[in-house]
Amino acid sequence: MNEFPRVCAQIDLAALRANVRALRARAPRSAFMAVVKADAYGHGMIPCARAAVEAGASWLGAATPEEALALRAAGIGPGEARVLCWLWTPGGPWREAIEADVDVSVSGLWALAEVTAAARECGRTARIQLKADTGLGRNGCQPADWPRLVEEALKAEAEGTVKVTGVWSHYACADEPGHPSIALQSTAFEEALRIVDEAGLRPEVRHIANSPATLTLPGSHYDLVRPGIAMYGISPSPELGTSAGLGLRPVMTLTASLAQVKHVPAEHGVSYGRHYVTPRATTLGLVPAGYGDGIPRHASGSGPVLVAGKWRRAAGRIAMDQFVVDLAGDEPAVGEPAVLFGPGDGGEPSAADWALAADTIAYEIVTRIGSRVPRVHMNG
Ligand SMILES: *Cc1c(COP(=O)(O)O)cnc(C)c1O
Repeated sequence: MNEFPRVCAQIDLAALRANVRALRARAPRSAFMAVVKADAYGHGMIPCARAAVEAGASWLGAATPEEALALRAAGIGPGEARVLCWLWTPGGPWREAIEADVDVSVSGLWALAEVTAAARECGRTARIQLKADTGLGRNGCQPADWPRLVEEALKAEAEGTVKVTGVWSHYACADEPGHPSIALQSTAFEEALRIVDEAGLRPEVRHIANSPATLTLPGSHYDLVRPGIAMYGISPSPELGTSAGLGLRPVMTLTASLAQVKHVPAEHGVSYGRHYVTPRATTLGLVPAGYGDGIPRHASGSGPVLVAGKWRRAAGRIAMDQFVVDLAGDEPAVGEPAVLFGPGDGGEPSAADWALAADTIAYEIVTRIGSRVPRVHMNG
Protein backbone atom coordinates (compact mmCIF):
# COMPACT_ATOMS: atom_id res chain seq x y z
CA MET A 1 0.00 0.00 0.00
CA ASN A 2 0.92 3.64 -0.53
CA GLU A 3 3.12 4.78 2.32
CA PHE A 4 1.09 7.99 2.52
CA PRO A 5 -2.44 6.87 1.89
CA ARG A 6 -5.22 9.34 1.12
CA VAL A 7 -7.06 8.18 4.22
CA CYS A 8 -6.44 5.26 6.50
CA ALA A 9 -7.88 3.69 9.66
CA GLN A 10 -5.20 2.44 12.00
CA ILE A 11 -6.47 -0.32 14.27
CA ASP A 12 -4.46 -0.79 17.44
CA LEU A 13 -4.93 -4.43 18.41
CA ALA A 14 -2.88 -3.97 21.58
CA ALA A 15 -5.49 -1.43 22.71
CA LEU A 16 -8.24 -3.88 21.85
CA ARG A 17 -6.60 -6.63 23.92
CA ALA A 18 -6.13 -4.24 26.83
CA ASN A 19 -9.80 -3.23 26.62
CA VAL A 20 -10.86 -6.89 26.67
CA ARG A 21 -8.73 -7.45 29.78
CA ALA A 22 -10.10 -4.33 31.45
CA LEU A 23 -13.66 -5.44 30.77
CA ARG A 24 -12.96 -8.98 31.93
CA ALA A 25 -11.66 -7.55 35.18
CA ARG A 26 -15.07 -5.89 35.65
CA ALA A 27 -16.84 -9.24 35.21
CA PRO A 28 -14.29 -11.69 36.62
CA ARG A 29 -16.69 -14.58 37.11
CA SER A 30 -18.26 -14.41 33.66
CA ALA A 31 -17.12 -15.67 30.29
CA PHE A 32 -16.46 -12.98 27.70
CA MET A 33 -18.21 -12.79 24.33
CA ALA A 34 -16.48 -10.34 22.00
CA VAL A 35 -19.16 -8.85 19.77
CA VAL A 36 -17.61 -8.56 16.30
CA LYS A 37 -20.69 -7.96 14.15
CA ALA A 38 -20.67 -5.36 11.35
CA ASP A 39 -16.99 -5.99 10.59
CA ALA A 40 -16.13 -5.49 14.25
CA TYR A 41 -17.90 -2.10 14.29
CA GLY A 42 -15.82 -1.14 11.28
CA HIS A 43 -12.50 -2.25 12.78
CA GLY A 44 -12.04 -5.42 10.69
CA MET A 45 -13.69 -8.59 11.96
CA ILE A 46 -11.05 -11.30 11.69
CA PRO A 47 -8.02 -9.51 13.21
CA CYS A 48 -10.21 -8.10 15.98
CA ALA A 49 -11.77 -11.50 16.71
CA ARG A 50 -8.33 -13.08 16.95
CA ALA A 51 -7.03 -10.33 19.22
CA ALA A 52 -10.07 -10.66 21.49
CA VAL A 53 -9.57 -14.42 21.73
CA GLU A 54 -5.91 -13.87 22.61
CA ALA A 55 -7.01 -11.58 25.42
CA GLY A 56 -9.37 -14.18 26.84
CA ALA A 57 -12.65 -14.02 24.93
CA SER A 58 -14.06 -17.54 24.76
CA TRP A 59 -17.10 -16.52 22.70
CA LEU A 60 -17.56 -14.35 19.61
CA GLY A 61 -20.86 -12.63 18.87
CA ALA A 62 -22.10 -12.08 15.32
CA ALA A 63 -25.38 -10.67 14.08
CA THR A 64 -25.72 -12.44 10.74
CA PRO A 65 -25.02 -16.07 9.88
CA GLU A 66 -22.66 -14.85 7.14
CA GLU A 67 -20.52 -13.15 9.76
CA ALA A 68 -20.50 -16.25 11.95
CA LEU A 69 -19.55 -18.49 9.04
CA ALA A 70 -16.79 -16.06 8.00
CA LEU A 71 -15.24 -16.42 11.48
CA ARG A 72 -15.14 -20.20 11.08
CA ALA A 73 -13.93 -19.95 7.46
CA ALA A 74 -11.01 -17.83 8.71
CA GLY A 75 -9.94 -20.78 10.82
CA ILE A 76 -11.28 -19.79 14.23
CA GLY A 77 -12.42 -23.21 15.38
CA PRO A 78 -14.89 -24.16 18.11
CA GLY A 79 -12.02 -25.16 20.38
CA GLU A 80 -10.78 -21.59 20.19
CA ALA A 81 -14.07 -19.74 20.46
CA ARG A 82 -17.76 -20.50 20.50
CA VAL A 83 -19.66 -18.33 18.05
CA LEU A 84 -23.23 -17.12 18.62
CA CYS A 85 -25.24 -15.56 15.85
CA TRP A 86 -28.65 -14.00 16.40
CA LEU A 87 -30.14 -12.37 13.34
CA TRP A 88 -31.92 -15.08 11.41
CA THR A 89 -34.47 -14.91 8.65
CA PRO A 90 -36.47 -17.78 7.20
CA GLY A 91 -34.37 -20.06 5.01
CA GLY A 92 -31.26 -20.11 7.12
CA PRO A 93 -28.44 -20.97 6.38
CA TRP A 94 -29.17 -23.20 9.40
CA ARG A 95 -27.41 -26.30 8.15
CA GLU A 96 -24.18 -24.47 7.35
CA ALA A 97 -24.23 -22.95 10.84
CA ILE A 98 -24.82 -26.31 12.53
CA GLU A 99 -22.02 -27.91 10.54
CA ALA A 100 -19.68 -25.03 11.38
CA ASP A 101 -20.40 -25.45 15.09
CA VAL A 102 -22.08 -22.06 15.37
CA ASP A 103 -24.60 -21.51 18.18
CA VAL A 104 -27.79 -20.08 16.77
CA SER A 105 -30.27 -17.88 18.52
CA VAL A 106 -33.93 -18.84 18.43
CA SER A 107 -36.57 -16.19 19.12
CA GLY A 108 -39.67 -18.08 18.06
CA LEU A 109 -41.27 -21.31 16.97
CA TRP A 110 -40.62 -20.72 13.26
CA ALA A 111 -36.89 -20.59 13.90
CA LEU A 112 -36.99 -23.64 16.15
CA ALA A 113 -38.83 -25.56 13.43
CA GLU A 114 -36.29 -24.57 10.78
CA VAL A 115 -33.25 -25.35 12.90
CA THR A 116 -34.55 -28.74 14.04
CA ALA A 117 -35.35 -29.64 10.42
CA ALA A 118 -31.81 -28.68 9.39
CA ALA A 119 -30.35 -30.69 12.28
CA ARG A 120 -32.28 -33.80 11.24
CA GLU A 121 -31.18 -33.29 7.65
CA CYS A 122 -27.49 -33.25 8.50
CA GLY A 123 -27.67 -35.70 11.38
CA ARG A 124 -26.11 -33.32 13.90
CA THR A 125 -27.27 -31.71 17.10
CA ALA A 126 -27.82 -27.97 16.69
CA ARG A 127 -26.55 -25.73 19.48
CA ILE A 128 -29.29 -23.21 20.11
CA GLN A 129 -29.81 -20.30 22.48
CA LEU A 130 -33.29 -19.13 23.36
CA LYS A 131 -33.72 -15.39 23.30
CA ALA A 132 -36.28 -13.73 25.52
CA ASP A 133 -37.77 -10.32 24.76
CA THR A 134 -37.64 -8.82 28.25
CA GLY A 135 -38.72 -5.39 27.05
CA LEU A 136 -36.51 -4.28 24.18
CA GLY A 137 -39.23 -5.17 21.71
CA ARG A 138 -36.79 -6.13 18.99
CA ASN A 139 -35.98 -9.78 18.44
CA GLY A 140 -36.60 -12.25 21.23
CA CYS A 141 -39.65 -14.19 22.36
CA GLN A 142 -42.45 -12.39 24.22
CA PRO A 143 -43.22 -13.59 27.76
CA ALA A 144 -46.65 -14.86 26.67
CA ASP A 145 -45.04 -17.15 24.08
CA TRP A 146 -42.01 -18.14 26.17
CA PRO A 147 -43.38 -21.23 28.00
CA ARG A 148 -44.41 -22.80 24.70
CA LEU A 149 -41.02 -22.08 23.08
CA VAL A 150 -39.25 -23.57 26.09
CA GLU A 151 -41.48 -26.63 25.99
CA GLU A 152 -40.85 -27.20 22.27
CA ALA A 153 -37.10 -26.72 22.76
CA LEU A 154 -37.19 -29.27 25.56
CA LYS A 155 -38.89 -31.77 23.23
CA ALA A 156 -36.30 -31.15 20.51
CA GLU A 157 -33.55 -31.62 23.07
CA ALA A 158 -35.06 -34.92 24.22
CA GLU A 159 -35.12 -35.99 20.59
CA GLY A 160 -31.43 -35.09 20.20
CA THR A 161 -31.89 -32.55 17.43
CA VAL A 162 -30.90 -29.56 19.58
CA LYS A 163 -28.92 -28.73 22.67
CA VAL A 164 -30.04 -25.56 24.43
CA THR A 165 -26.68 -23.98 25.21
CA GLY A 166 -27.93 -20.60 26.33
CA VAL A 167 -30.78 -18.38 27.41
CA TRP A 168 -30.38 -14.71 26.85
CA SER A 169 -31.82 -11.26 26.38
CA HIS A 170 -30.79 -7.67 25.63
CA TYR A 171 -31.32 -4.34 27.45
CA ALA A 172 -32.95 -1.29 25.91
CA CYS A 173 -31.52 1.40 28.22
CA ALA A 174 -28.45 0.05 29.97
CA ASP A 175 -26.62 3.18 28.80
CA GLU A 176 -28.99 5.34 30.87
CA PRO A 177 -28.13 4.45 34.46
CA GLY A 178 -31.20 4.34 36.66
CA HIS A 179 -33.66 4.08 33.78
CA PRO A 180 -36.72 2.29 35.18
CA SER A 181 -36.76 -0.21 32.29
CA ILE A 182 -33.48 -1.71 33.49
CA ALA A 183 -34.96 -3.18 36.67
CA LEU A 184 -38.10 -4.29 34.82
CA GLN A 185 -36.04 -6.11 32.21
CA SER A 186 -33.86 -7.71 34.87
CA THR A 187 -36.97 -9.03 36.62
CA ALA A 188 -38.41 -10.27 33.33
CA PHE A 189 -35.14 -12.06 32.56
CA GLU A 190 -35.19 -13.75 35.98
CA GLU A 191 -38.72 -14.93 35.24
CA ALA A 192 -37.70 -16.29 31.84
CA LEU A 193 -34.81 -18.15 33.52
CA ARG A 194 -37.13 -19.55 36.18
CA ILE A 195 -39.40 -21.02 33.51
CA VAL A 196 -36.41 -22.57 31.75
CA ASP A 197 -35.13 -24.01 34.99
CA GLU A 198 -38.51 -25.44 35.99
CA ALA A 199 -38.84 -27.05 32.59
CA GLY A 200 -35.57 -28.86 33.32
CA LEU A 201 -33.37 -27.18 30.72
CA ARG A 202 -29.80 -26.59 31.89
CA PRO A 203 -28.18 -24.03 29.55
CA GLU A 204 -24.42 -23.52 29.71
CA VAL A 205 -24.72 -19.73 29.66
CA ARG A 206 -27.28 -17.15 30.71
CA HIS A 207 -26.50 -13.64 29.51
CA ILE A 208 -27.92 -10.15 29.10
CA ALA A 209 -25.04 -7.67 29.59
CA ASN A 210 -23.91 -5.47 26.71
CA SER A 211 -21.11 -2.89 27.17
CA PRO A 212 -23.00 -0.45 29.41
CA ALA A 213 -24.36 -3.27 31.58
CA THR A 214 -20.89 -4.83 31.82
CA LEU A 215 -19.59 -1.46 33.01
CA THR A 216 -22.38 -0.44 35.37
CA LEU A 217 -24.57 -3.40 36.38
CA PRO A 218 -22.58 -6.18 38.06
CA GLY A 219 -25.85 -7.95 38.86
CA SER A 220 -26.43 -8.44 35.13
CA HIS A 221 -23.22 -10.32 34.39
CA TYR A 222 -24.55 -13.89 34.89
CA ASP A 223 -22.38 -16.49 33.10
CA LEU A 224 -21.24 -14.34 30.23
CA VAL A 225 -20.94 -10.68 29.23
CA ARG A 226 -21.27 -9.45 25.64
CA PRO A 227 -19.49 -6.16 25.14
CA GLY A 228 -19.11 -4.60 21.73
CA ILE A 229 -18.42 -0.88 21.69
CA ALA A 230 -16.39 -0.83 24.92
CA MET A 231 -14.02 -3.42 23.50
CA TYR A 232 -13.26 -0.92 20.73
CA GLY A 233 -12.39 1.56 23.45
CA ILE A 234 -15.42 3.78 23.07
CA SER A 235 -17.76 4.81 25.86
CA PRO A 236 -21.32 3.58 25.19
CA SER A 237 -22.63 7.07 25.89
CA PRO A 238 -21.32 10.41 27.14
CA GLU A 239 -23.47 9.87 30.25
CA LEU A 240 -21.29 6.92 31.27
CA GLY A 241 -18.11 8.96 30.96
CA THR A 242 -15.20 9.19 28.60
CA SER A 243 -13.15 6.27 27.33
CA ALA A 244 -10.27 7.24 29.62
CA GLY A 245 -12.61 7.59 32.59
CA LEU A 246 -13.81 4.03 31.97
CA GLY A 247 -10.27 2.68 31.63
CA LEU A 248 -10.65 2.09 27.89
CA ARG A 249 -8.55 3.15 24.93
CA PRO A 250 -10.01 3.87 21.49
CA VAL A 251 -8.76 1.33 18.98
CA MET A 252 -9.33 3.19 15.69
CA THR A 253 -7.42 6.26 14.49
CA LEU A 254 -8.65 7.83 11.27
CA THR A 255 -6.12 9.97 9.45
CA ALA A 256 -6.13 11.63 6.03
CA SER A 257 -3.28 13.37 4.20
CA LEU A 258 -3.97 16.99 3.28
CA ALA A 259 -4.47 17.02 -0.46
CA GLN A 260 -4.14 20.76 -0.96
CA VAL A 261 -3.28 23.89 0.99
CA LYS A 262 -4.01 27.23 -0.65
CA HIS A 263 -4.53 30.92 -0.03
CA VAL A 264 -7.93 32.35 -0.80
CA PRO A 265 -9.30 35.88 -0.52
CA ALA A 266 -12.07 37.02 1.81
CA GLU A 267 -15.64 36.08 0.92
CA HIS A 268 -14.63 32.95 -0.93
CA GLY A 269 -17.31 30.26 -0.92
CA VAL A 270 -16.37 26.79 0.31
CA SER A 271 -17.95 23.58 -0.93
CA TYR A 272 -21.45 22.87 -2.25
CA GLY A 273 -24.10 25.37 -1.39
CA ARG A 274 -21.57 27.99 -0.24
CA HIS A 275 -22.58 27.36 3.36
CA TYR A 276 -19.19 28.64 4.44
CA VAL A 277 -17.78 31.88 3.11
CA THR A 278 -14.29 32.92 4.25
CA PRO A 279 -14.63 35.80 6.69
CA ARG A 280 -11.24 37.16 5.65
CA ALA A 281 -8.29 36.20 3.46
CA THR A 282 -7.18 32.83 4.76
CA THR A 283 -5.69 29.44 3.95
CA LEU A 284 -7.80 26.38 3.22
CA GLY A 285 -6.80 22.76 3.64
CA LEU A 286 -8.41 19.99 1.62
CA VAL A 287 -9.15 16.80 3.56
CA PRO A 288 -9.55 14.02 0.98
CA ALA A 289 -12.28 12.05 2.71
CA GLY A 290 -16.04 12.38 2.59
CA TYR A 291 -19.31 10.58 3.05
CA GLY A 292 -18.15 8.03 0.47
CA ASP A 293 -15.70 7.00 3.17
CA GLY A 294 -18.31 7.14 5.90
CA ILE A 295 -17.60 10.66 7.14
CA PRO A 296 -21.07 11.86 8.12
CA ARG A 297 -22.36 14.69 5.90
CA HIS A 298 -24.48 15.64 8.87
CA ALA A 299 -21.28 16.95 10.49
CA SER A 300 -20.90 19.60 7.76
CA GLY A 301 -19.79 22.82 9.41
CA SER A 302 -18.90 21.10 12.66
CA GLY A 303 -16.84 17.89 12.25
CA PRO A 304 -13.50 18.39 14.07
CA VAL A 305 -10.07 17.57 12.63
CA LEU A 306 -6.61 18.02 14.10
CA VAL A 307 -4.40 19.75 11.51
CA ALA A 308 -1.04 21.35 12.29
CA GLY A 309 -1.58 21.23 16.03
CA LYS A 310 -5.07 22.74 16.13
CA TRP A 311 -8.63 21.57 15.93
CA ARG A 312 -10.34 22.80 12.78
CA ARG A 313 -13.98 22.34 11.84
CA ALA A 314 -15.28 21.09 8.51
CA ALA A 315 -15.96 24.36 6.69
CA GLY A 316 -19.13 24.06 4.67
CA ARG A 317 -20.52 20.83 3.30
CA ILE A 318 -18.80 17.49 3.63
CA ALA A 319 -18.91 16.09 0.10
CA MET A 320 -18.63 12.52 -1.13
CA ASP A 321 -14.84 12.45 -1.28
CA GLN A 322 -13.59 15.66 0.29
CA PHE A 323 -14.13 18.41 2.75
CA VAL A 324 -12.31 21.61 3.57
CA VAL A 325 -10.97 23.15 6.75
CA ASP A 326 -10.19 26.82 7.27
CA LEU A 327 -6.56 26.90 8.39
CA ALA A 328 -6.77 30.57 9.46
CA GLY A 329 -3.53 31.52 7.73
CA ASP A 330 -1.52 28.47 8.82
CA GLU A 331 0.38 26.79 6.00
CA PRO A 332 1.00 23.13 6.73
CA ALA A 333 2.60 21.22 3.86
CA VAL A 334 0.49 19.20 1.48
CA GLY A 335 0.50 15.64 2.81
CA GLU A 336 0.47 16.73 6.45
CA PRO A 337 -1.80 14.50 8.53
CA ALA A 338 -5.37 15.54 9.23
CA VAL A 339 -6.47 13.39 12.16
CA LEU A 340 -10.24 13.04 12.30
CA PHE A 341 -10.34 10.94 15.44
CA GLY A 342 -8.24 8.66 17.59
CA PRO A 343 -7.37 7.95 21.22
CA GLY A 344 -6.38 11.57 21.80
CA ASP A 345 -2.63 11.13 22.32
CA GLY A 346 -1.81 13.91 19.88
CA GLY A 347 -4.69 16.10 20.97
CA GLU A 348 -6.93 14.81 18.16
CA PRO A 349 -10.72 14.61 18.48
CA SER A 350 -12.45 11.35 19.40
CA ALA A 351 -15.16 9.39 17.66
CA ALA A 352 -17.39 10.72 20.47
CA ASP A 353 -16.61 14.28 19.32
CA TRP A 354 -17.69 13.33 15.80
CA ALA A 355 -20.84 11.76 17.20
CA LEU A 356 -21.67 15.04 18.90
CA ALA A 357 -20.98 16.98 15.69
CA ALA A 358 -23.14 14.63 13.63
CA ASP A 359 -25.92 14.29 16.21
CA THR A 360 -25.45 10.53 16.49
CA ILE A 361 -23.66 7.96 18.63
CA ALA A 362 -19.99 7.01 18.40
CA TYR A 363 -21.04 3.46 17.46
CA GLU A 364 -22.27 4.82 14.13
CA ILE A 365 -19.16 6.90 13.50
CA VAL A 366 -16.74 3.96 13.58
CA THR A 367 -19.09 1.36 12.15
CA ARG A 368 -19.87 3.39 9.05
CA ILE A 369 -16.26 4.06 8.06
CA GLY A 370 -16.48 2.68 4.55
CA SER A 371 -14.81 -0.10 2.63
CA ARG A 372 -12.85 2.48 0.61
CA VAL A 373 -10.78 3.23 3.73
CA PRO A 374 -7.94 0.75 4.23
CA ARG A 375 -7.65 -0.72 7.72
CA VAL A 376 -4.09 -1.10 8.92
CA HIS A 377 -3.90 -3.46 11.88
CA MET A 378 -1.05 -2.74 14.28
CA ASN A 379 0.38 -4.71 17.21
CA GLY A 380 -1.22 -7.97 16.07
C1 LIG B 1 -24.56 -5.25 19.37
C2 LIG B 1 -24.98 -6.14 20.43
C3 LIG B 1 -24.23 -6.25 21.62
C4 LIG B 1 -23.08 -5.36 21.96
O1 LIG B 1 -23.60 -4.10 22.32
P1 LIG B 1 -22.64 -2.93 22.82
O2 LIG B 1 -23.57 -1.87 23.28
O3 LIG B 1 -21.85 -2.52 21.63
O4 LIG B 1 -21.81 -3.50 23.88
C5 LIG B 1 -24.62 -7.21 22.54
N1 LIG B 1 -25.68 -8.00 22.30
C6 LIG B 1 -26.44 -7.88 21.20
C7 LIG B 1 -27.62 -8.76 21.02
C8 LIG B 1 -26.13 -6.95 20.23
O5 LIG B 1 -26.90 -6.85 19.14
